[in-house]
Amino acid sequence: MIRKLYLAGADAFRLNMSHGSHEDHAAVIDAIRTLEKDTRRPMTILADLQGPKLRIGEFADGLVQLESGARFILDRDETPGDNSRVCMPHPEVFQAIEVGERLLLDDGKVVLRATAAETDRIETIVEVAGPLSNNKGLNVPDVIIPMDALTDKDRTDLTFALDQGVDWIALSFVQKPEDAAEARKLIQGRAALLAKIEKPSAVHRIDEILEAVDAVMVARGDLGVEIPPEDVPPLQKQIIEKARMVGRPVVVATQMLESMIRSPTPTRAEVSDVATAVYDGADAIMLSAESAAGDYPEESVEMMDKIATAVEADPTHWARVHFTETLPDSTSADALAEASNGIAQTVSANAIICFTTSGSTARRVSRERPSVPLLVLTPKLKTARRLGLLWGAHSVHTRDVVNFEEMVAKSKRMVIRARIAKGGDRVIVMAGVPFGTPGSTNVLHIVRLMGDELERHTDDEIADDS
Ligand code: PEP
Repeated sequence: MIRKLYLAGADAFRLNMSHGSHEDHAAVIDAIRTLEKDTRRPMTILADLQGPKLRIGEFADGLVQLESGARFILDRDETPGDNSRVCMPHPEVFQAIEVGERLLLDDGKVVLRATAAETDRIETIVEVAGPLSNNKGLNVPDVIIPMDALTDKDRTDLTFALDQGVDWIALSFVQKPEDAAEARKLIQGRAALLAKIEKPSAVHRIDEILEAVDAVMVARGDLGVEIPPEDVPPLQKQIIEKARMVGRPVVVATQMLESMIRSPTPTRAEVSDVATAVYDGADAIMLSAESAAGDYPEESVEMMDKIATAVEADPTHWARVHFTETLPDSTSADALAEASNGIAQTVSANAIICFTTSGSTARRVSRERPSVPLLVLTPKLKTARRLGLLWGAHSVHTRDVVNFEEMVAKSKRMVIRARIAKGGDRVIVMAGVPFGTPGSTNVLHIVRLMGDELERHTDDEIADDS
């Protein structure tokens, strides 16, 4: 199935650590890496840590029905609950909640309002009635809970994921930039870090969080519980815009093609939602249950790919994406990244080719949202894999070049191999001289492909996985 999803258009895979055993995840990782070897195409794996998800305890009958206006108590007594009370095994919440604040249960289906708050007991009134069953999730959007960003389970999952060589770690329920700093200390550069934006507190501190991480995700599932759903679309646009400004990849996730969990075709509204994320200039669009547990995983990926392709073929797409203006920093990498985009239009080039070790130049070029594909050539497999989340980038893991002639020759061969350009086309090449020195991007060169350079070449120069 993973192979089918790749062929249908997927180039990054999320492992949701909230589900499945380490054994299950290891088997998935193994399948992805095998596919990567077979296709010689770097694949991106993101391990999504569950984070400090709050849950209530159990009920004597497994399920209760809460009536509107009734009193309901959350306490620390582990005795199974009934329709007057239930255990809530998170001492931090008792300390943080104040009278008048909301407690949302089961993705906001049941809403309680605190009327009294003590260190081991919160009294509430049921504002939105409904059924409640064992271990349902609890959201407290109005307060910052003094909880560690990483639970014990997260720490175990993180060690496992890093040992498996995943490319990205996603942190759930990030509340503040310090949460990212804590994760960074443990990750020690072994993977890139993505913050899921799903709490109002994270939205309030989005600028600082963006500085502290490598990418963000608009995690609309929990975000739409913590804030009114009608506030999610404007926030999605604002988060995408802010992420693009600072050059951090941004993923839009959750319920994108929700009806395709059970239906072979999406609703028109879902198609429009996916298209909106592409028009907004998101780097990546993500499926959850549609591909992980639905009846039509392949069809869902195919549909997403078709929607993205259709939007990108719209002649107004480029202007819409550039509604967000990304001003360059005063660095030579940004000067060249901005120039490459302008030159590509002036000379009608067909691609921008970027030699990079760390991936940083590619990120700055992608931030410009150029009008042509970005071909990234890197000697570091880690870099090629991480860049799978990047807008418009196609990465190839290949040996480094040592001089200018080799740079030009390899650019020509690789762009033809990737079928991005053909004889007669122009491409723009960016690199750093002296070659092989990270952070030295200082060359921008226009190359014309001759007709006789069209012949196919072998895969010999694609580097091995070592
Ligand atoms: C979300 O809440 O939107 C999300 C992506 O997180 P998860 O799928 O882990 O609930």
